[in-house]
Amino acid sequence: MAKATDVKEAKFVEVKCPDCENKQILFVKSATRVPCQACGSTLATPTGGKCAIKGEIVGVVE
Ligand SMILES: [Zn+2]
Repeated sequence: MAKATDVKEAKFVEVKCPDCENKQILFVKSATRVPCQACGSTLATPTGGKCAIKGEIVGVVE
């Protein structure tokens, strides 16, 4: 699990899908819904700023 401070600063995070456990990198300020590439489940939804991430954040990409 990534540290909250790292996640706050991150532009890209690695998220684990809650449905299929696929891991993928996503942009935290995505303006569009981000689907899981494996099962199509929603991993993040846009909020106008930082998107709401549904899965578990397992890593931060520098
Ligand atoms: Zn999935």
